[in-house]
Amino acid sequence: MPAPATAFADVAVQLPVAGTYCYEIPARLRGRVTRGARVMVPFGHRGVAGVVVGLLDTIPAGLDTARPLDALLADEDPIPADLLELCLWISSYYEAPPGEALRAALPVGAQVSAQKIVELTPAGEQALSAGGALSRRDRDVLGVLAQAGGAAPQRALVKPGKAPRGTSGPRGVRARDIAELVEAGLLRYRREMDQARVKARTERTAVIARAITDDDRAGLARAPKQLAALTALERAGGAASVAALRQHEPNIAAHLRALARAELIHFEQRPRALTGLITGSGADNGGNGDMNGVHAPSAPPVLSEAQAQALTAIQALLADERFGAALLYGITGSGKTEVYLHAIADVLAAGKSAIVLVPEISLTPQLAARFRARFGDQVAILHSALSNRQRFDEWQRLRTGAARIALGARSAVFAPVANLGIIVVDEEHDSSFKQEEGVRYHGRDVALVRAQRAGAVCLLGSATPSLESYFAAESGRYKLLALPERPTPKPLPEIRLIDLRVHQPERDAMLTAPLAQAIEETLARDEQVILFLNRRGFDTFVLCVACGQPLHCHQCSVSLTYHRGRDLLICHYCGSQRRVPDRCPSCFATGRIVRRGLGTEKVAAAVAERFASARVDRLDRDVASGPQIGPILGRMARRETDILVGTQMVTKGHDFPGVTLVGVLCADTGLSLPDFRASERTFQLLTQVAGRAGRGDRAGQVLIQSYRPDSVAVSAAAKHDYAGFYRAERAARQETEFPPYGYLAAVRIDGRYIDQVIDTANALAAHIRPHAQALSVDIMGPSEAPLAKLKGRTRWHMWLRAKERKPLRQLLRLTQRGPDDAHFQPPADVRVSLDVDPVSAL
Ligand code: ADP
Ligand code: ZN
Repeated sequence: MPAPATAFADVAVQLPVAGTYCYEIPARLRGRVTRGARVMVPFGHRGVAGVVVGLLDTIPAGLDTARPLDALLADEDPIPADLLELCLWISSYYEAPPGEALRAALPVGAQVSAQKIVELTPAGEQALSAGGALSRRDRDVLGVLAQAGGAAPQRALVKPGKAPRGTSGPRGVRARDIAELVEAGLLRYRREMDQARVKARTERTAVIARAITDDDRAGLARAPKQLAALTALERAGGAASVAALRQHEPNIAAHLRALARAELIHFEQRPRALTGLITGSGADNGGNGDMNGVHAPSAPPVLSEAQAQALTAIQALLADERFGAALLYGITGSGKTEVYLHAIADVLAAGKSAIVLVPEISLTPQLAARFRARFGDQVAILHSALSNRQRFDEWQRLRTGAARIALGARSAVFAPVANLGIIVVDEEHDSSFKQEEGVRYHGRDVALVRAQRAGAVCLLGSATPSLESYFAAESGRYKLLALPERPTPKPLPEIRLIDLRVHQPERDAMLTAPLAQAIEETLARDEQVILFLNRRGFDTFVLCVACGQPLHCHQCSVSLTYHRGRDLLICHYCGSQRRVPDRCPSCFATGRIVRRGLGTEKVAAAVAERFASARVDRLDRDVASGPQIGPILGRMARRETDILVGTQMVTKGHDFPGVTLVGVLCADTGLSLPDFRASERTFQLLTQVAGRAGRGDRAGQVLIQSYRPDSVAVSAAAKHDYAGFYRAERAARQETEFPPYGYLAAVRIDGRYIDQVIDTANALAAHIRPHAQALSVDIMGPSEAPLAKLKGRTRWHMWLRAKERKPLRQLLRLTQRGPDDAHFQPPADVRVSLDVDPVSAL
């Protein structure tokens, strides 16, 4: 008898293993298992989750038998076909395990680590009390659950000796048996989603009850405070927490109550994080300027000539209804966001949906607030501070079409929207779009691929486009759209270069006389200052003056930074901490340890001392992670901060009209890194931070202190000369055949034992060298990585460079375990990981 159709499934298991595995579909599930379905399968001795990526009528050639899959996770939505394909493309392009790549398309990325709960269903309860028809084994399993109160974590059930409290025997239950009972409908799986955070704190939220008419407004003519409250609420997108509104108007609650009595608004309890975002992090940052009406107009402004032209070009691409890519190169503050908003409005009007990727959403609450103000609940905001439950809910809103704009960091590129019209990648040059662990995809590149497959438009925007993107625009692959001026008469700030070889900086804050004077004058005019230094901590290195040795992290080959706030030495790579020793670990001299160098913590302290009347605040990873960023930005927006000292976190798209002076303490900190993008990154940072000055009514100025004022990155940034920088950098890349003139991949080799790592690196290089020659791929290395030790693991690397992608990928495959001798077999303790189109050179 011929086997019935689709009797086998190709499954990508959620484990870091290459390839997919074939399982038999048990008769009871045939016809129900679809592509994209979530299943449980046996793998070795355990059961793991997986995704069905293919259905087969017959067992693949070369395979004798296939184990049956355990269960269909029927209550979890299958992965939509387009996302399934996208993830498989990622798996193949980045040489990443397919199961890992598919995890990105699940609403809760880390879901496999979420607790899996097994629960009795009503049918299960009934069967247990009726007893009769159950096998002894089934009765046992159901009995264990009943004794545990009806539900227990699968892990506790399966692990003998860890039986849930109150169950009789220590006997473990088999995962298989549970799965069968799930199939039979007597048990079900449920994912415990982070209970503490699921019960999201709610807050009292004022919500506009109906469309506000001119008559309503006229009726409030004699109650201007009520009218102001209503306007604030409209600007916030129709809903805002009372606490957030109170930040602007302490008596607002009374006015809101009056509005509620007039039935213009009503109150609801809404989850805090969600409304928090509606109001630009709401109570957490006091609105961050979005509700004083300066930054969040709810009605679109009239576009400038250049904006209108860019929009027309995008509309033409959209009208084509097939893939098109455009690069919106617009100087800082030129109104790129406004163009995105208009283009997205068109996309929505055409019944389609949009994805907007931004580098780091917690750093740019203003942007989220502008989207909310324009599109209200149509926007689903995906950010890292969401609990799993909230993330799941936002995902659900996108999936059902309740929300049609997904706004978030790189992983939002997997948002489950249907009928995609446009993907916007804002600040496309930003390196945070590259995922640096696990599946090392680049959010911008995946956005292009997704748009291509969906026949959508991909719009990349930046004031400092990456070399790759500008090159693509220059060669006509992307349409180049330019916004060369700011829409309102706010010229770009004047930039002065200060040569640190001529002007001695003072030791504690690294201020030269001209910068100190400029700060003085700015403060005297009651305007705000941003000081940028790309190093955090107090003293950035600590050494023994007896032997000259700096103190290193035990785990990593980096020097430790002293943090005064915590009075500890901290490793910025692994986070390990220790006290400052009295005795040098190298030469054992006592009392000779000194601290040198400076980071933002020290600068902030020194600046506060020197400008005693100024209110000084700091923004860097030490003081601000996720939720703490809002309040710092909020104080800045409300002009409660006079001087903000920070790392590159201060360079991101902030729009503070009060800032008229930006000081760069040392422009060159990143220039000497062993990274072919060092110059590009420096140029981008300097241009971006300069763009924070003079965005309000008054002109801004920027002072850049540098030891290398003649370097292209610094001098071009000082002249607002992107074109000049691009030409110089492109020539350098052409000469060295680095991107965009060649393709790169990094092969990283790391392990606990230094000898083993070195041997493996050399053996691997020797193994692929003949193939590399045949394929015309250059091998650079192997050599010790600049970050030679990380978290106790020795790191070596090798870079591969080729004119074409195909041979590069062929060669990469040979570095991985595989079926034949052409593949390299690393020792078990050494990890060989691949990074296609690498961004980090460390
Ligand atoms: P970018 O995204 O290029 O940094 P934004 O879109 O944030 O620029 O615009 C900078 C500022 O100019 C914002 O405050 C924005 O509201 C304002 N703006 C943008 N376009 C216009 C316009 N056409 N007319 C008036 N103001 C505008
Ligand atoms: Zn370390």
